[in-house]
Amino acid sequence: MSKILILAAALFVVAATPLTNPRPSFNNEALSAQYRLSDNTIPTFYDVRLFLDPNADSFRGSVTIRVMPYVETDEIVLHAMDMTLSNINVRSDLNADNLYLSHTLATDDTHFLRIRLSQTLTAFLPYLVDIDYTAPYGDNMFGIYVSTYETATGDRRLVTSQLQPTFARRAFPCYDEPKFKAIFRTTIYAPAEFTAVRSNTLVRDDAGTWPDVPGYIKHEFEDTLPMSTYLVAYLVSDFDFRDNTENPIYRIPFRVYARPGVLNTADFALDFGQRNMVALEEYMQFPYYFEKMDKVAVPDFAFGAMENWGLVKYREVALLVQDGVTTTSTKQNVGRLICHENLHQWFGNEVSPDSWTYTWLNEGFANLFESYATDFVLSEWRMMDQFVLNMQNVFQSDAVLSVNPMTHPVYTPSEIIGTFNAVAYQKLRNSRRHLGGSSVALTLVSAKDLSSLSLLRDRSALRVRVNTTGSVIRMLEHFLTPEIFRRGLVIYIRDNARGVVTPAQLYTALQQAVNEANYSLPTSIEQILTAWTTQGGFPVITVRRSAPTANSVFITQERYLTDPTQSAPDRWRIPVNWVLSTAVDFSDTSPQAWVPHTFPAVSVDIPRLNETEWFIFNKQQTGYYRVNYDEENWQALSRVLNSDQYDRIHVLNRAQLIDDAFNLARNGRLDYRIPMELARYLVRESDYVPWAAASAAFTYLETVLSGSPAYEWFQPCPVWSTNQRSPFAELASPCANKRAYLQAFTNYCRVVHQRYIQSSHQPSERGDDVCAHSCVRVYKTEFLLELSLPLFDELGFDETQNEEHVTAFHRNIILGINCRHGNENCTSVAQDLLQEPESIHADIQTTVYCSGLRGGDAGAFNTLWNMFVDTTDSSRQSILLNALGCTSNSDRLQLATSAPLTDTEKYTVEQHLLKKTFSSYMDQVISDTSSVREQDRHTILVSVINAGPDNLEVALDFIIDNFLEIQQSVQGLTGTTNILNALSRTLSTKEHEEKIDNFYERYQNYFTAGEIASVAAIRENIGASQFWADRNFNVVEDWLRANYGNHAGRVTATVAFVLPLILSLLNVV
Ligand SMILES: [Zn+2]
Repeated sequence: MSKILILAAALFVVAATPLTNPRPSFNNEALSAQYRLSDNTIPTFYDVRLFLDPNADSFRGSVTIRVMPYVETDEIVLHAMDMTLSNINVRSDLNADNLYLSHTLATDDTHFLRIRLSQTLTAFLPYLVDIDYTAPYGDNMFGIYVSTYETATGDRRLVTSQLQPTFARRAFPCYDEPKFKAIFRTTIYAPAEFTAVRSNTLVRDDAGTWPDVPGYIKHEFEDTLPMSTYLVAYLVSDFDFRDNTENPIYRIPFRVYARPGVLNTADFALDFGQRNMVALEEYMQFPYYFEKMDKVAVPDFAFGAMENWGLVKYREVALLVQDGVTTTSTKQNVGRLICHENLHQWFGNEVSPDSWTYTWLNEGFANLFESYATDFVLSEWRMMDQFVLNMQNVFQSDAVLSVNPMTHPVYTPSEIIGTFNAVAYQKLRNSRRHLGGSSVALTLVSAKDLSSLSLLRDRSALRVRVNTTGSVIRMLEHFLTPEIFRRGLVIYIRDNARGVVTPAQLYTALQQAVNEANYSLPTSIEQILTAWTTQGGFPVITVRRSAPTANSVFITQERYLTDPTQSAPDRWRIPVNWVLSTAVDFSDTSPQAWVPHTFPAVSVDIPRLNETEWFIFNKQQTGYYRVNYDEENWQALSRVLNSDQYDRIHVLNRAQLIDDAFNLARNGRLDYRIPMELARYLVRESDYVPWAAASAAFTYLETVLSGSPAYEWFQPCPVWSTNQRSPFAELASPCANKRAYLQAFTNYCRVVHQRYIQSSHQPSERGDDVCAHSCVRVYKTEFLLELSLPLFDELGFDETQNEEHVTAFHRNIILGINCRHGNENCTSVAQDLLQEPESIHADIQTTVYCSGLRGGDAGAFNTLWNMFVDTTDSSRQSILLNALGCTSNSDRLQLATSAPLTDTEKYTVEQHLLKKTFSSYMDQVISDTSSVREQDRHTILVSVINAGPDNLEVALDFIIDNFLEIQQSVQGLTGTTNILNALSRTLSTKEHEEKIDNFYERYQNYFTAGEIASVAAIRENIGASQFWADRNFNVVEDWLRANYGNHAGRVTATVAFVLPLILSLLNVV
């Protein structure tokens, strides 16, 4: 399955750390015995019959399981959850005697169904287990559950399913671990009005569909191949479909299902999905063996998509593309997810992990190939170039001590779900279920689960390393060469099809390919990769010339951790290659040397190094590590970048240098002046990828600079507490007359909002800080505007014909910088465009709406909110939800245009109205009558958090006040962790720290493991921000002042824009 990235940058998963950090043990026998099924009996065949009426509250089913005892036993143990069982019957193939004696269904999170037998089963003699049951439809979008959508004649319901990772047990009693593969026969009984009834395979030719039980139509499906329970899927709906009958690009029936009326948005999925399957099949040299492929757009869906074999499901926004409405970013995401799920048909479905401890064998390959194999079909999207940005983002989350290795043992359901992202159970905590034929009051997160939660806290929190894994596998591809890598994967799939694997099988296949090619490696594949899969984190190598004229370098390695006070003993075998300024060729990415894991430092000979001006390690940033250099080399790199020769350096290495330099400086390994100097080259840079790398670095700078004392000091006064166009924050002159400025500032606050003034705010004591921080913002604004000016002029607001695919993303970065920092040419065009919001190009809608809402009033909010309510298009909803968070919490535009401030009452009324609007927006997260789907509600808070320091404060208070309600209201798997992760990227001050401490105290007994990890990450990041400020603020300020302090350029225009307002304020004083 895959996580969804609606606005990729907004939702990236961020570091989450536990409270302590011991190494995980690699096999916990007690937990294994407690949670894993034994191999005493194994299933070989399931016959599942389901009665699924979407208009009912529950469903009934019956299952016959053919089991094979491997030992003599008088007990059969399997999984069942959340169902009422009846008529259990156990018989041998030889006679019909019922061997059933009794059963128990666990009330804890083992979900074990133990069936005791009246006589001992004979080993290797097959038996049949029959069970009837009824069950409620699943909540939280797991198990078999109901989704709804609106039509002109009212709401329509459908039944769909999400069984990965541990919810097949909620659909039918089964051996619910991936290693227990079996053949599935499925029969669905559904009311006649639901015409689109699907499962993994085609409807059986000899059976077809026919009335059977009164009120139901019977749909019998072909038997599957041997497969894991988590890949079984169902759909009972009145959906329509598009298929490839007329234009079969792919060799088997390929359909896209969606609710009626939106099928005109299915063309891209149909076309790209087929082309991508053709390309993957060719790459794998192994056919997709099912006889059909359905792709279904489900209105309510927990994940981005799910790779059920033959019946792949997507959230609507992750499958449907409407030209002119869907953004380039969303369309790319659709392509990426389709490719991701297609890849799983081999990695996951044919070859499955032995247990969820090895989730990376599925998700790591899917994470890489979603880009790698999209490139096969749409190379103009530059997905593998963009993958480098993905990797740089992963570096952030992987740079904490507590991160789990790729191979990480998991046992409990909450641990298992954690390998996919977070823990999903909070909503169920208070629900009561009927189980085991008797009415048992049960909380799903039982005492046992809570104890496993605290166990988690002690051991190490669960983290996603899926993206990490993709980056490690990309490195593997380059150090093996693409040919050997592919050959290894072909062997791996061929030799393990229909089976289950551990990493050992992968290493064996890759080693075979290496041996066949006589390819030279320093040691075995297993030895190389084990360090990367069983240690968390990644290394930074430092490369220094041995001497100024030497032809060799010293390379040291250590684990890279964001917190410079931490260290770890981990070491890796690291493939390295390099480019010298005298021989610039970045094309060959195979290793020229290996840094061993055994020595702290290694010397590498590089002929003619003494003739070079500069050198770069890690061509095209294919290795999963950062690179630091001696200062002379950094200076030389800065010189070449800041010259007309800058494009002699490969575009991906330009992105690497920006990302590494800023992060190494942040980490205390490099003087901040180096990345700042380096970044000045961006004024020449026209490619998206280095700009995207820089954008991430700039965002961090803004966070830490806004976390300054100045911001806290401004905070009591709402008119100034906005992060841009805030008169005092952007006024350069106050530094010339500090005291007068502060006096004016204080007086203004007094007049407008007496009650916000607190006695602790003594300007005379904090004046220096306030002044310094307000100035640094001006300089920073100059810096960013100057760098982006050429591209602002070139890219503008309008798409041009034949522009590059990624230009849409690039334009948003440039417009974002300019509109946010008050470039009047940007803000005024945005305001003009807002006059006709419907006609704005989809790609810039979020930016323009955001800009408009920042300077707008309640009316602007209402216009966009009504657009959200009126549309049923999911990608449009996504754009609007992301923009609405930018709504200003204090209404400056009203303030500037009405005859203000002498009329405090009027002002207060307007403030009140807008605040009400704003908080009613956040209320949509928890309201019983919310207009926003559960799966999208967290986006509201994430967008408010990301909209700037002012909105962040309001969102933080809202989250602290309403956390339990938020837990109940947002999508269980990732909703709250997405919100908390957004906070961890943005909170930075001591006040934030206090609030988070209180937050933790208040809710610690209610947090899931994922939430605990996220809160720990928030604390760690706040600490890092303060550390940053203590250490780097003055360096950055000095550099900015020296380079931008005397500019009288475009910012002056901004200041002029607000000057009348300021004067009017001062007049009041
Ligand atoms: Zn996946």
